[in-house]
Amino acid sequence: MSEKKETHYDVLIVGGGMVGLTLANLLRDSGLQIGVVEKLEPKVISDEIDIRVSAINRASLAIFKSIGAWPAMVERAGAFRDMHVWDATGAGMIHFDSAEVGLDTLGYIIENRVIQQALQKAMQQADNIEWICPATIDSIKLSDDTQQLHLEDGRTLECRLLVGADGSRSQVRAAAGIEFERLSYAQQAIVCTVATELPHAETAWQCFTPDGPLAFLPLVNEQSSIVWSLEESKVDAMLALDEAAFCRALEQAFEYQLGAVTLVSERAAFPLGHGHVDQYVRSGLALVGDAAHNIHPLAGQGANLGFLDAACLADVIIQARAANRQWSALHSLRKYERARKGENRLMESAMTGFKLLFSNDNPMLATVRNAGLGLVDQVPLIKQQFMRHALGGH
Ligand SMILES: Cc1cc2nc3c(=O)[nH]c(=O)nc-3n(C[C@H](O)[C@H](O)[C@H](O)COP(=O)(O)OP(=O)(O)OC[C@H]3O[C@@H](n4cnc5c(N)ncnc54)[C@H](O)[C@@H]3O)c2cc1C
Repeated sequence: MSEKKETHYDVLIVGGGMVGLTLANLLRDSGLQIGVVEKLEPKVISDEIDIRVSAINRASLAIFKSIGAWPAMVERAGAFRDMHVWDATGAGMIHFDSAEVGLDTLGYIIENRVIQQALQKAMQQADNIEWICPATIDSIKLSDDTQQLHLEDGRTLECRLLVGADGSRSQVRAAAGIEFERLSYAQQAIVCTVATELPHAETAWQCFTPDGPLAFLPLVNEQSSIVWSLEESKVDAMLALDEAAFCRALEQAFEYQLGAVTLVSERAAFPLGHGHVDQYVRSGLALVGDAAHNIHPLAGQGANLGFLDAACLADVIIQARAANRQWSALHSLRKYERARKGENRLMESAMTGFKLLFSNDNPMLATVRNAGLGLVDQVPLIKQQFMRHALGGH
């Protein structure tokens, strides 16, 4: 990684989260000068597993391997080889087994901070990428050919292409005046880590309760990561319960699938919503990851979509450069928007549909969803389609 403090870059990526760092790594061999501007120092990694984890699918795994980031993650990566999804209000269930599609795993559960650190480590091998952190952006000035970031410490950074990888409250998106309507699901996800009486069996478990989906995700250390989506009105009460009462409520909601549960971490809640920008690109500007789209975490796809955004944008830039086209111009960047917008929207609509279908106690809908789960489970062709999407097309 360069020590030089350039003020002019080809590409400035605002946001050194999982998606921004992936993009920087994918542009490592492009010959472009790249800066990654991040406001927060990365989280320190301790022996304890952090409560923020992501289910990483096969497509994302392939990207991590291609940029050499996988070896630094693998020791903290909990493989899941099976997935069990069922409806708490009926007999509908579906089971995905990696062996059915000839794979050793369906994916991995990994702490976000481990992914970030591994991506940073991989980036340090490159001398054309500068890590600018901590950095607070005071203002952003955009034009067709040069973009400027004014930092609070008085520095001005210039670039040809500014990428907003700065999450759902993107400052880059706001500076470009790109509209983003975030609709609330009126739900929050309670996140924590638990130890369970029975082994998790390298299985990702998801139960659709009338209050919302509850996931038990298998961690590398035999513990499980919980993502429990609940109506907002119930979250405070659940967080206010003492540890023992919280664990009893969790066991009950999860229908005792893994026996008794013991809390081994703090509990935190994250508001859930969804939204999508209309424009992913402008001349000299692009949005990736949560800056462009937010979805419900029920299928663990948000970050996975962001990694595919990064791969697509890097590809579009590299190909345009190779063809001597203006790689940061709108007509080049549109190729990225065309490739990703439809797919991301489809996933957003599917997650909203699932959320509506499963958190509704209308008996007709309950019958439909239980029949639907049973049908998907029993018809190999439909099941394989489902798996193809969940695995990220791989
Ligand atoms: C409860 C929950 C569970 C989830 N589970 C999964 C899952 O299992 N699988 C999955 O694929 N997805 C999951 N997601 C979604 C996933 O967490 C997000 O999609 C992912 O974090 C998006 O990554 P990102 O890099 O685009 O944005 P972020 O993770 O939000 O990162 C943005 C980065 O930009 C920085 N930043 C922000 N503003 C500025 C600024 N002005 N200047 C400089 N830096 C800035 C931030 O500090 C941060 O480092 C889950 C989400 C939730 C809420």
